[in-house]
Amino acid sequence: MHTTDPYWKLRPAPPVPDDELCDCSQVTQLVLCDRLSSNPLHCLVCWGEVAPERIGFDGELADAIAVWRGLHRALFGLWLDSGEYQLWAQERLLDPSGTVNVCGREIVGQLGRFTRTYYWWFRDTTGDDYVPPTACPVCRGPLEPSPHADVRKCETCAVLV
Ligand SMILES: [Zn+2]
Ligand SMILES: [Zn+2]
Repeated sequence: MHTTDPYWKLRPAPPVPDDELCDCSQVTQLVLCDRLSSNPLHCLVCWGEVAPERIGFDGELADAIAVWRGLHRALFGLWLDSGEYQLWAQERLLDPSGTVNVCGREIVGQLGRFTRTYYWWFRDTTGDDYVPPTACPVCRGPLEPSPHADVRKCETCAVLV
């Protein structure tokens, strides 16, 4: 569809295809991670998108997630654009006390009342000189390997990096 419609970037987002949805019988570990779709909730086991009704949180939390998504999308867009604002956006995305990360981690804390939830920390893996972090970006404590993705995790801060 994308190849035949030159205006696809200006069209409303199509629904997520079924094969990109989480098909685990139960969601045991959730990740808040903006992957440029409407819903930033993903299953850490299969990396499929998790429909919010499967978690069952209230409208207030849904609003907060949408606000966070907008904030993250704006900064991530500036970073992706690689222009004048890239470095500025990167610093915002990496700042543990910056609004996007404070709000994101608050949401993760609230989602954690339903199921174990982690916050996907921004990282720039595009350059040849990328070195995986050795300390948690929030508490500076040691990281442990995550069995489900090529990332490390801090269990204390519920952060994946
Ligand atoms: Zn899943
Ligand atoms: Zn930590």
